Amino acid sequence: MELLDGKVVKQKVLEEVKELVSNLERPLGLAVVQVGDDEASKVYVRQKEKMAGDLGFDFRHVKLPENVTEEELLKVIDELNLDENVDGILVQMPVPKQINSKVIQNRILPCKDVDGLTDINSGCLVHDKDSLVPCTPQGIVDLLKYYNIPIESKNVTIVGRSDLVGKPLASLMTNNNATVSLCHSKTKNLEFYTSNADILVVAVGKAKLIKEDAVKEGAVIVDVGINRQADGKLCGDVDFDSVKDKVSYITPVPGGVGQMTVAELAKNTYKAYTLRKKLK
Ligand code: NDP
Repeated sequence: MELLDGKVVKQKVLEEVKELVSNLERPLGLAVVQVGDDEASKVYVRQKEKMAGDLGFDFRHVKLPENVTEEELLKVIDELNLDENVDGILVQMPVPKQINSKVIQNRILPCKDVDGLTDINSGCLVHDKDSLVPCTPQGIVDLLKYYNIPIESKNVTIVGRSDLVGKPLASLMTNNNATVSLCHSKTKNLEFYTSNADILVVAVGKAKLIKEDAVKEGAVIVDVGINRQADGKLCGDVDFDSVKDKVSYITPVPGGVGQMTVAELAKNTYKAYTLRKKLK
């Protein structure tokens, strides 16, 4: 078994972006809007801020109170949309329940939508048109490609169909000529799909859901899940110790997919900059 080391690939991606942005006329602008005090969100925003700082981006952390109205949040997004020095905008999820996340996400200009969650960018991805693609799924594909793991003609099973991970990954894998099964909580006989997968991606949010008997010998395992255990340690949706002697490759948690997500955000911010340049 070989580890798919997200830290190594992240470093390579960040170095590439650093090189690309070194001679631009101004620093790239990345705005992260955070509503409320969700603990996990704070960690994710800090990771983004660190990445932005390392690359010399102009990082705008817009913090709004838990009770902000949808209208107020839309106004903030409109201002960022109009700001010439802001290349990428994302709203950290989850948002409080008085706010409709779809409305918020779709207010971001598609050319600044570095999370790739607007209907326009989602549609482009389905149609295999160049667009801003959600960071985690793109990170998974880049990680596999770095390790020269073929995707074409492979049976790829994805467990979890969120707009952030599973659905866009199903499109990306299809666009890369895989045969895709997209599973979810209503899937009957999940094990049938997981145990036939050459590449198994699990993005559910349930600690150690997938064990040795549910994976194919020699499979490639991509574990997206991040779960906090009783002892405070993090673990994935796949039971690492149970599957490690049966599979060919596996992403560790932490140190796998999560590393790639932030690297792809850097790439998307540069891409957003180039997209707007083309539009001018
Ligand atoms: P969501 O909660 O949005 O989606 C979970 C999905 O899992 C749903 O499609 C749900 O099905 C499905 N599901 C739930 N229970 C089962 C089950 N028993 N069997 C099969 N499918 C099931 O999660 P996210 O996609 O946002 O995140 C998933 C995990 O990945 C979380 O642990 C999250 O923290 C992590 N994550 C990690 C990232 C990274 O960078 N490493 C980035 C994003 C997320 P249904 O649709 O029917 O409800």
